[in-house]
Parts: sequence; C-alpha cells; structure tokens
Amino acid sequence: MTGTVTNWAGNITYAAERVHRPESLDALRALVARSAKVRVLGSGHSFNEIADPGADGVLLSTAALPAGADVDTAARTVRVGGGVRYAELARRVHAHGLALANMASLPHISVAGSVATGTHGSGVANGPLASAVREVELVTADGSTVTIGRQDARFGGAVTSLGALGVVTALTLDLEPAFEVEQHLFTELPLEGLDFEAVAAAAYSVSLFTDWRDRGFRQVWLKRRTDQPMPAFPWGVPAKVALHPVPGMPAENCTRQFGVPGPWHERLPHFRAEFTPSSGAELQSEYLLPRRHALDALRAVDGVRETVAGVLQTCEVRTVAADEQWLSPCYGRDTVALHFTWVEDTAAVLPVVRRLEEALADFEPRPHWGKVFTTPAEVLRGRYPRLDDFRALAHGLDPAGKFTNAFVRDVLH
Ligand SMILES: Cc1cc2nc3c(=O)[nH]c(=O)nc-3n(C[C@H](O)[C@H](O)[C@H](O)COP(=O)(O)OP(=O)(O)OC[C@H]3O[C@@H](n4cnc5c(N)ncnc54)[C@H](O)[C@@H]3O)c2cc1C
Repeated sequence: MTGTVTNWAGNITYAAERVHRPESLDALRALVARSAKVRVLGSGHSFNEIADPGADGVLLSTAALPAGADVDTAARTVRVGGGVRYAELARRVHAHGLALANMASLPHISVAGSVATGTHGSGVANGPLASAVREVELVTADGSTVTIGRQDARFGGAVTSLGALGVVTALTLDLEPAFEVEQHLFTELPLEGLDFEAVAAAAYSVSLFTDWRDRGFRQVWLKRRTDQPMPAFPWGVPAKVALHPVPGMPAENCTRQFGVPGPWHERLPHFRAEFTPSSGAELQSEYLLPRRHALDALRAVDGVRETVAGVLQTCEVRTVAADEQWLSPCYGRDTVALHFTWVEDTAAVLPVVRRLEEALADFEPRPHWGKVFTTPAEVLRGRYPRLDDFRALAHGLDPAGKFTNAFVRDVLH
C-alpha cells in the first residue's frame, strides 16, 4: 500500500503508511526491539529519502515522548529530548539566561534530525550545530540504551549519523551565557572584486544572497553580537526596507532587522518560528566545500548562472568552521556552503542540479545530507576519509542493519 506521510516540502512520500509515536521510552524500546526495519522521522524538513524506512519498515517519531529540556545552569548544558525543536529548546534555554552558540536559518527543525544531517548556520568561527553536542543517548537495535559522550572513541560517528545507529532519545548540548544580536542588512554587493574572506568575517554570522540573475549579491545579512565590535562594511549599500531572502516573500516572516538588538534566538535564524520559513513551496540543495575555494566556486556557479537562475528562488552563501564528525560535510575543512532554494518542480530542477554539480566538481563538494543531490554514491564515499570508521561503528551497534534504509545503504556500501 502506498504511504501518505510526506516530508515538509511534500516532494517525498515515505513508504510507511503511518508514523508510530510511542509515548514512553519503554514503548519505544519494545517497538524497536520487535521491528525488522526502523527509521526515525524528526520534523521532516529534509528534501530527500533519508528518513524513508522503505516498504515494510517502521517510521517512528520521538515527538510524543516526554519533551525534556533540562538545563544545568552550573555546568552550562542542556539535556534535550530528540524530538524537541530548536524554537522550543531556545525558549527554555534563554529562560535560564543561557544560549546556544548558533542556529540554522529556521527554528522549526528538530534537534536530533538537524545534527544527524550536519545542519549548520553561518560564521567563520561557528561549527555545524552538531559541534554543541557533548553526549548522545540512543536506543539501539535490540532496544537497549547506549550513551556516547565526547570522551568515547565512537563519538566521531555518533552525532552526524544519518539516523543509522539507532533512535536518538536525548542529547546533551553545550550552552554559553545569553547574548544579544543585531542584524544589519546590505544590498548590491558585486562579485567582481569580492574580498570573500573579509566579507565572511565581517560579523559573527554572515549570509550572502543572490538569485544569479545578475553577477553579484542582492542581499548581505550581518548578524553582529552586541558584545563584539560594530562591523565596518564598506562593500554594500545599507538596506532601506526590510528584506526576505526569497524575492517577493513578505519580510514580516523574518526576524527583526535594521540593527535592533534582540535575544540570540530571535536574530540568529532568518525566519520567525510562528511563520512558514523560506517560501514554503520549494526544493533545496546545498554543497559544502573548502572555504579556500570560495571565490573560484562562486565563479564556477556564475559560469552556469543562466541555467541556475531559471529554476532558482534564492541562493545563500555561508561559512562554517571545520568539525570532527566523520560524516559531517564540514569534517576537517573550514567550509563555504553554497545553498540553493529551487522552485518546487523536481523534473525541472534535477537537470540543473546535475549541471551545477559538474560545475563544482573540482572543489570536492560534499552535498548537504538533507537536501536534493545527484552525486553518485561512489563519488560521495571518496569525499569522507573516515567512512570506514563510521561503517564499523554502525555495524557494531546495528549488525543486522535495522536502521539502514536505501539512502544510507548507498552511502555506506
Ligand atoms: C525551510 C528550510 C530551511 C532550512 N535551513 C537550513 C539551514 O539553515 N541550514 C542547514 O544546514 N539545513 C537547513 N535545512 C535542512 C534541515 O536542517 C535538515 O534537513 C534537517 O535534517 C532537518 O531536521 P529534521 O528534524 O526535519 O530531520 P528529518 O528530515 O526529519 O530527518 C533527517 C534525518 O535525521 C534522522 N533523525 C531524525 N530524528 C532522529 C532521532 N531522534 N534519532 C535518530 N535519527 C533521527 C532521520 O532518520 C533522517 O535520517 C532547511 C530545511 C528547510 C525545509
């Protein structure tokens, strides 16, 4: 029977007919132990089959488990349930005068699902969201619980794990004292003569946006921590009106701009929790490559600009600091991330994605695990030097491959 459960974007219908939502840890353990194939669904914001359990597989959500977010103010940590979304987590953390170091463009996504795919925000000194994780609690294939912390030799595979190790029921994250952020937006940043390193380092978090209809960037978003110096930004024109990254979308959906200071969790994401993020009718792709190639990679995209622009809503360029998760697209490389929000038309978008991947191939791009890509599995495997370590970890925790679906099998085998 065909499933009816779809992802957020609606471009993927999972093979499972329904989502199982156990309400207690014991019920979850029992369900996992008696099932032959299991995948966990977070908030469903991925654009590919990564969460699909396949025919006869169980699709499981942790959203109905008691939604813990226990803050330890002395240790500056929070232990959060796997199904909790960043919007809720941020509210709880902020109430204790504490903060996460960074957030993605939207707060609607689940913590476990985000770190499983290497989700990131921006900032030359900010690693992916998984960098905040210090401990992971998993229910593994036989229904038992395994806790893997930073000191554990298995930790490098445990966080950005594509959901292939078990059900993440809780994560413990590092916090820091709460801080305020201002957003300063600029327009009209040319590609010609771009000093990418200086622009990317101009604030705590920097995003460049273009629709590639012209050579250059229509918007620059600088997110300045108010405890850091005011950026000098001589390259663009200060925005005169509030902006949305997708042309034509209402700016009221976005977090407050014009340099008005506000709490970290109401400025680091571009999109406000109470509105649909982005355009809502879209597909997305993203390629993460060594930051030193940023300008050459941007020129390569410029070379296929007309092809890309035909199906593009917006392109966002961000930076991410290297991390140590074996399957992280930022593993071992300070990164530039080239993101593409496409129109909602898979048939029209896929040939453009292929063309774009050809244009970027020389820069060893690693596609975002949660977005649309066509890179062949054998090419992907060559871009992850610790893949064998991850395979061994997955085999050790899940010898029968209960948590392996077609997407993961492609990558691992
Ligand atoms: C509008 C929009 C904006 C976005 N912006 C950004 C951005 O700024 N930066 C960025 O990097 N990405 C971004 N993304 C991509 C998004 O962050 C990722 O797709 C992320 O994985 C979404 O989390 P999720 O909970 O929805 O994951 P899902 O799609 O539900 O699942 C992703 C993977 O995580 C696994 N998983 C989920 N929960 C668990 C669990 N409890 N235990 C084990 N495995 C689990 C699933 O099995 C699956 O393999 C955006 C997506 C959208 C739709």
